[in-house]
Amino acid sequence: MHNDLNTMKNLKNNPQRSKEIYGLCSGEENERDEEIPFGIIDASLIQRICETNRYGTAEKADKNGKLDSHLFILTSYFNHACLANAFRYDYGDVMIVYASDDIKKGEEICISYLDPLHGFLDRQKKLSGWKFTCQCKLCEIDSKDPNCLKRDEMWKEFREYEKVASPKEIIAKGEPLLKKIRESYINRNEFKYVLADTLIDLSFAYSHLENLSKSIQCLEEVLTLMDNPLQYIMRMGDIYVNLAICYEIKGNMKKGAKMIEKSMELRFCKEMDHFKLLYPDFIHSSLLR
Ligand SMILES: [Zn+2]
Repeated sequence: MHNDLNTMKNLKNNPQRSKEIYGLCSGEENERDEEIPFGIIDASLIQRICETNRYGTAEKADKNGKLDSHLFILTSYFNHACLANAFRYDYGDVMIVYASDDIKKGEEICISYLDPLHGFLDRQKKLSGWKFTCQCKLCEIDSKDPNCLKRDEMWKEFREYEKVASPKEIIAKGEPLLKKIRESYINRNEFKYVLADTLIDLSFAYSHLENLSKSIQCLEEVLTLMDNPLQYIMRMGDIYVNLAICYEIKGNMKKGAKMIEKSMELRFCKEMDHFKLLYPDFIHSSLLR
């Protein structure tokens, strides 16, 4: 578990890393010594650095919503793009950065600071904490999309409703919303991620009601929408596992195995044992043998 105090303790034990850590504070113009002068650590600066660079994912939050977060020095130097060409995964104390798109020689490698990715306004709001405006291709497309804000609003309202609604109610409100969101993308061919999000939520509601065919239909459409570098930040590896479970229940083992294969690819797993570690609840499935 990371906290500012731990970072300070680590820095005290590894003073040779002070330059790398202090360098994470953007806008700090004063050159820092490699060694901590007189063994003194600038606590307020460390706190600011940790605030903007700590890494923790919602799935690692404890029951009170508190994140188990870490400070990864090297990956903190990557700049952000919502539509990033690299993606980071942490394995406890180790973080690995993978390419999520073809990267040209000389092209900047960026990762997304957001996890997961939501609407344009939501992203802008979250990124304002880092004091910059993202100018990635996705933000450019969203900012020029006249339906973007209205769509985000509808989606946000639905998300709130889902917290208190039953699966039946989610479908009753979600299907007309799906139609509206689909229409809002009529003049846009790329990155229809709000439509994908809506379909994912509907597929869960259908699967709660044991309507597997509808659940599969929703997720299959998500696959066609997310066949782009956003599939990493949208956690499509998990969606492929959900589809594999649906196909397994339906007895379509061939399709199920195909979904597992694709999930392994997206989760960067070469070995089945590695995959099993990522999906321990799924370990008894015959698809993993
Ligand atoms: Zn962006």
